[in-house]
Amino acid sequence: MWEFTSPRTIVFGENALEYLKTIEGTRALIVTDKVIRKLGFADKVASYLKQAGMAVEILDEVETEPSAENVMKGAELARKHCPDWFIGLGGGSCMDAAKAIWVLYERPDMEVAAINPLEKLGLRKKARLTCIPTTSGTGSDATWVTMITDVKECRKMELTSREIVADIAILDPELAKSMPPRVAADTGLDALTHAIEGYVSQWSNDFSDALAIRAIQIIFKYLLRAYRNSEDKEAKEKMHNAATMAGMSFSNSQVGVAHAMGHSLGAIFHVPHGRAVGLFLPYSIEYSARDAAQRYADIAREIDIDVETDEEAVTKLVQAVKKIEHEVGTPGSIKELGISREDFEKRLDDLVSRAANSLCTFMNPRVPEVEDVRKLVTYAYDGKKINF
Ligand SMILES: [Zn+2]
Repeated sequence: MWEFTSPRTIVFGENALEYLKTIEGTRALIVTDKVIRKLGFADKVASYLKQAGMAVEILDEVETEPSAENVMKGAELARKHCPDWFIGLGGGSCMDAAKAIWVLYERPDMEVAAINPLEKLGLRKKARLTCIPTTSGTGSDATWVTMITDVKECRKMELTSREIVADIAILDPELAKSMPPRVAADTGLDALTHAIEGYVSQWSNDFSDALAIRAIQIIFKYLLRAYRNSEDKEAKEKMHNAATMAGMSFSNSQVGVAHAMGHSLGAIFHVPHGRAVGLFLPYSIEYSARDAAQRYADIAREIDIDVETDEEAVTKLVQAVKKIEHEVGTPGSIKELGISREDFEKRLDDLVSRAANSLCTFMNPRVPEVEDVRKLVTYAYDGKKINF
């Protein structure tokens, strides 16, 4: 038996935001950050919710990569306002914070670190969740993941529960136009990594496969256009949809070792999530191909790469990923990120142990031993090939 969980309603396309006018409820809390508020998006969302007859409060204190303390403060404010709707508005950080704040609001007896798939949270007794992404990549609007930082341990907690999947996801491409090109590239590569890792994951299934393949096709076709021209409406809309499809896919399969290494690099060297996982993606394909060549070959054929053997398909898929990353100006190695060999070697043990212990590592089609993780991270430092 398997289970596929997704938002109950996904509203997408031009003017999707207007759907907010039809939501039934009395009090809404918009969870966002100062940048999104400054762009006027929070006020726009608030005005639609008011037209739906709701009292609206805006919490704009979400940090980049929110901490448990940040979430607890948000939950305190939520208890004062008593919302029956949480609106997570922004990039992954804002939507993840909204999920965690919602949990603590409904379950004041819980600590955020206790969110896990086996814990019955009993949500939706007081409120529900709408997510509205303003970047095209994290897929948090469709996933059962919330990433919260444990500041003391300098560690990102990958917290999951099927109950925290949003009730409604609203994908309005107009909001994605404000992304600077660098953010469009980073988040787009995050979505590509979600879809490719989701497709080859040990837990992949027919439903996640369909979404992953379509997302990969869209990203290869539209990412570069969306990166080069934020006024390209078609490309922006397609990337916005693909990010959520990739989110639905990996949330119901799993991501793999590129995410494990990306989380580790991100936590230690403060590299943005999408840039970090995108950097590791081609290296992880080369490593994992031994046990998933046919799956990677499916992907290559679905994006119209002309190949005869699975082996050739893997090589050409790696080249295609590197090409698109280069075109959107993403560093192809840790060295190109500007990290010196000395700093890298100082933190190598830490990088390796965090990645080796990540849950994502165990879902990879080829599960690496600690020594293999060390080889992979070292390979990604300067691209000098190491035999696995
Ligand atoms: Zn990701």
